[in-house]
Amino acid sequence: MNIHEYQAKELLAKFGVGIPAGHAALTVDEAVEAAKKLPGPLYVVKAQIHAGGRGKGKFKELGPDAKGGVRLAKSLDDVKHDAEEMLGNTLVTIQTGDAGKQVNRLYVTDGVDIAEEYYLSMLVDRASGRIALIVSTEGGMDIEEVAHSTPEKITTITIDPAEGFMPHHGRAVAFALKLSGDLNKQAQKLSKQLYDAFVALDCEMLEINPLVETKPDSSGAAQLLVLDTKMSFDGNAMFRHPDIEALRDESEEDPAEVEASKYDLAYIKLDGNIGCMVNGAGLAMATMDIIKLNGAFPANFLDVGGGATKEKVTEAFKIILSDPAVEGILVNIFGGIMKCDIIAEGIVAAAKEVNLSVPLVVRLEGTNVEKGKEILETSGLPIVSANDLGDAARKIVAETKKAA
Ligand code: ADP
Ligand code: MG
Repeated sequence: MNIHEYQAKELLAKFGVGIPAGHAALTVDEAVEAAKKLPGPLYVVKAQIHAGGRGKGKFKELGPDAKGGVRLAKSLDDVKHDAEEMLGNTLVTIQTGDAGKQVNRLYVTDGVDIAEEYYLSMLVDRASGRIALIVSTEGGMDIEEVAHSTPEKITTITIDPAEGFMPHHGRAVAFALKLSGDLNKQAQKLSKQLYDAFVALDCEMLEINPLVETKPDSSGAAQLLVLDTKMSFDGNAMFRHPDIEALRDESEEDPAEVEASKYDLAYIKLDGNIGCMVNGAGLAMATMDIIKLNGAFPANFLDVGGGATKEKVTEAFKIILSDPAVEGILVNIFGGIMKCDIIAEGIVAAAKEVNLSVPLVVRLEGTNVEKGKEILETSGLPIVSANDLGDAARKIVAETKKAA
């Protein structure tokens, strides 16, 4: 699960992390009011979408010379003008795909006098089974390019979960960022605060880009501040964090995926034309692979889970069919806990209820498979039965081509 930048910053602030002051806004008036609460004279108006690359992004509705999704504003009038141009329009960034994302929220924040931009992120590294801290002196909008052409400028530090965050981890971060004196101390403290937040909030990923060093103030003091952050959470842990779950912005998610999550179906939309309904994530992956092997592409990943009921199967059909790209459906279910005859009854009932209009190939295996196949055959519906996974994939690809 993802949240917006301003929400992530509010969460991090509770752990003592330094962030510039700012306020979220849903309307132009709110954006101006938000700016009035800030000291000025430099404000930054930032589009809040669940995608990065906003600074270099372009608005579909505005000309190619218009400014992007992160704008420096030097007056309240500028804030008003920027808010008017951004709200309701579609921002296309390197991470949104060509369709872009509509901007419905803004974050109006203090303009910061930047001396240096650094990069710091944390993620659960499956290879080492640890939380990995990734830092670079080359932060800012071109980090992907740095990772590609000068990977030696990126340092990875992993933390043993049994040991936890130790002072030497903080020193390693500060060293990698080449900081000295007070800034070095700040980096050590900040990395501990971020690690604490990451663990306490069950994060999957936390990215700070840029982490900035401010220009020294009149007393010569500089600060490390989090200027941009992206945060995502382990969905399976969200039952422990109702306050974080409340931050979910469904308008940022695929409508079919939102619908699927209501029924506890693991659904991810893909670009192909063969809808898949499968039980078990491993079987779902294998099904997608074998569809590709036969020259077609899956329209989705869908795991109906172990205890698929008739209601769940019906909802799954509806969700698959809500995708206009779907030209055929392949059901591949292994009846273990669920018996094949029960599943077959569910499929027949669901196919009748949704008025199935595309070819349907069903491969059942497991307990009571003969009874299940008989139910499909005598249903009077044009359901094509398959014997094994290869047979099923060949049949759905052929049926779809025939129907097209
Ligand atoms: P994105 O990564 O989506 O492009 P960022 O928030 O990182 O968005 O903003 C892009 C760039 O804009 C930053 O690298 C930084 O140089 C500048 N910027 C962002 N916020 C501020 C701010 N509060 N003050 C000054 N400059 C900022
Ligand atoms: Mg950024």
